[in-house]
Amino acid sequence: MPARYAIANWKMNLPPEGIETYLKALGAGGNGAARIVVAPPFLYLKDVVSLARSRVAVGGQNCADQPSGPLTGEVSAPMLRECGAEFVIIGHSERRTLFGETDAMVARKLGVAIESGLTPILCIGEDQKIRDAGEAGIFVSNQVKSAAVPPLQKVKTLLLAYEPVWAIGTGRNATGAMVREMVTEIRSALERFWPSRFVQSAPILYGGSVTPDNVADLAANGQIDGYLVGGASLDSRKFLAITTA
Ligand code: PEP
Repeated sequence: MPARYAIANWKMNLPPEGIETYLKALGAGGNGAARIVVAPPFLYLKDVVSLARSRVAVGGQNCADQPSGPLTGEVSAPMLRECGAEFVIIGHSERRTLFGETDAMVARKLGVAIESGLTPILCIGEDQKIRDAGEAGIFVSNQVKSAAVPPLQKVKTLLLAYEPVWAIGTGRNATGAMVREMVTEIRSALERFWPSRFVQSAPILYGGSVTPDNVADLAANGQIDGYLVGGASLDSRKFLAITTA
């Protein structure tokens, strides 16, 4: 399936070619129809907003679980919106594993993001131990269930990103067939736990060591609507090759 969305998660990095050159290349390059979202570190968000071309939207990599308040070091969803972000990544596995974000926190962040008018990109996915135990399906279903917050009733678009923890930044991607199996699990969980309109309409992306070399299998067999890309998104040529796969 051609990608409908391609998200560049720069994490705590900047593209070596420079922000301006990178965004110029994305704006000019490729003939794919994918909506491109660049998620820079917070400090560079306004730079990216001002340099982004029409095909490129901007997203935060995270937001606080409250709209404002005494949370030193945090950035709120309304602030992201005010700075020109349209999207926000919620529940990335690095936030969950390295910064202790629980399902309950992720649910609160999702609610605040929706109330602030941002389009959330909700990340879910199992680690290696859970996969080895044969429990990947039930694990992601529970993540979907715990994110079933009341504000879902009013959100226009919400993206889900299936990101197996064992594939993120490891160079070991899930195959298209593995992803398709998990997409079926996720859609079944959406049917059981979320308002009915999400079941077919919610775009599901895949993330985890996507590169121009492995994207063809994912595009052909993954039953996905696009990609969330970390490492390979730092190079405009590689990222463009993924967006047009
Ligand atoms: C990510 O950060 O969400 C990600 C998928 O990273 P990578 O592409 O480097 O595995």
